[in-house]
Amino acid sequence: MPTDPVIGVLAVQGDVREHLAALAECDVVARPVRRATEIAEIDALVLPGGESTTIDKLTRAFDLREPILDRLKAGMPAYGSCAGMILLADRVVDAIEGQQTFGGIDMTVRRNAFGRQVESFEEDLRVTGVDGEPVRAVFIRAPWVEEVGDAVEVLATVAEGPAAGRIVAVRQGNLLATSFHPEITGDIRVHRLFVEMVRSAG
Ligand code: GLN
Repeated sequence: MPTDPVIGVLAVQGDVREHLAALAECDVVARPVRRATEIAEIDALVLPGGESTTIDKLTRAFDLREPILDRLKAGMPAYGSCAGMILLADRVVDAIEGQQTFGGIDMTVRRNAFGRQVESFEEDLRVTGVDGEPVRAVFIRAPWVEEVGDAVEVLATVAEGPAAGRIVAVRQGNLLATSFHPEITGDIRVHRLFVEMVRSAG
């Protein structure tokens, strides 16, 4: 891509500002997306952490769902963290009634999977595609991935504790998803990984 790619952050609810700040450090044009017309102007989309049920409802209320789905089906790269991971899942366990996702990643995620005892926790994780030190992964009422189809590449699993072995980062084609929130740690390597995906897709 000759010019810097334009990466939108879906800005109806959630930690939009944090993603915009992380992307701003990655040599891309980062902008919030709130209107259907803005979907046509982006090369890629980030679905932030927040509350997947609220993001789903507001996305439909603001007529963003169809244009986003059309772009995703046409191969637009997207990265979802936490609630955003849920929005990219083909199947959700413990969804609320009527909850919809965009889908695109052949996986089943379980909402709020880690349970009350460990609703929020942090762990150092090895993430495939992220070189150097492990990634400090912050989980906040996070989903995990229960099962994946053959086309899905598992990038990270929880190393220890009651959730050991659970899948928490995946990639399928141009879609990337993490159960955790790199946008709130100041470590932009996962965003850089996504930007590399965007550049090679372009
Ligand atoms: N539990 C939230 C949901 O179901 C996700 C939490 C998060 O994004 N931090 O959407």
